[in-house]
Amino acid sequence: MSENAPPVVELVNVSKTYGRRGGGVRAVRGVSLTVAPGEVYGFLGPNGAGKSTTIRMMLGLIAPSGGEVRLFGEDLRRNPSVLRRVGSLVDGGAFYPFLSGRRNLEVVAKTHGGDGARIDELLDQVGLAKDAKRKVKGYSTGMRQRLGVAAALLNDPDIVILDEPVNGLDVAGIQEMRALIRGLAADRGKSVFLSSHLLHEVQQVCDRVAIVSKGEVVRESGIAELLRQDAGLRVEAAPLDIAEAALTARWKVERSGDALLVDATKDEAPEVARRLIGAGANLFALAAEQRNLEDVFLSITQPEAPDA
Ligand code: ADP
Repeated sequence: MSENAPPVVELVNVSKTYGRRGGGVRAVRGVSLTVAPGEVYGFLGPNGAGKSTTIRMMLGLIAPSGGEVRLFGEDLRRNPSVLRRVGSLVDGGAFYPFLSGRRNLEVVAKTHGGDGARIDELLDQVGLAKDAKRKVKGYSTGMRQRLGVAAALLNDPDIVILDEPVNGLDVAGIQEMRALIRGLAADRGKSVFLSSHLLHEVQQVCDRVAIVSKGEVVRESGIAELLRQDAGLRVEAAPLDIAEAALTARWKVERSGDALLVDATKDEAPEVARRLIGAGANLFALAAEQRNLEDVFLSITQPEAPDA
């Protein structure tokens, strides 16, 4: 896609209140985010954060109470036909249990105007070619989810929107789904928007992430930046007092056992080393402290408990 292509998805201050005004549930509160062409975008948050509600608005299944959903630069409300460029998997996909995987896709193609000629290629792409003739009632959860992805791809969409695609999958199923999602972006140039409450999944598969809590986006960032931003340096040096004094002059420093945790970036590591040696401390170890997304996620979505 060209450099100047509009964002695939643009949510502008989107909100949704269920039920009557006043007594209603404010499920989504002014969410704004942008998904670029070819990007795998993660929408990460605990259960009840408003992820499914947001996805339903993106698919035109429910109307926002406020704000605007733009897909490929088009206002969804004014031009719902833009949904032809969107494939989706919500609620794990609904299939006829007594029909085969292949037959189910034929039904979807007929009822939703997908391209039946692509069915075999899609079954192959999602790893179901050899099970295509089996009845769906005998499929594992992972196989059903992958059939759901195949169904979402029938109209050859430019973006695939997946609500909790790894929910209920075992380890092997999760790995297959992860490879499938990465392949959609890397090999087929599709954009992918997926929601998850599983930090690990988002960290493994997404380029960018919005962290959502209580209906609001509390952070939107590339995965790498998110981690880098929150990393510090771990220093082992002696005497510890001298090392601590040398670094406190410039950075926030915390003791962690026999080590110091320094609120400095990796780029500042040489400066940290110089100051330690300049102060006469012996430096034994200096490493970037990798916080995983889980720590970051928890610190963002669960503010520290107030003192009792
Ligand atoms: P998530 O997908 O992040 O788990 P949801 O979008 O499903 O979150 O739900 C967000 C909030 O909206 C929750 O408090 C939920 O109970 C409420 N909610 C969801 N759907 C409805 C509905 N149809 N009617 C009323 N409240 C709803």
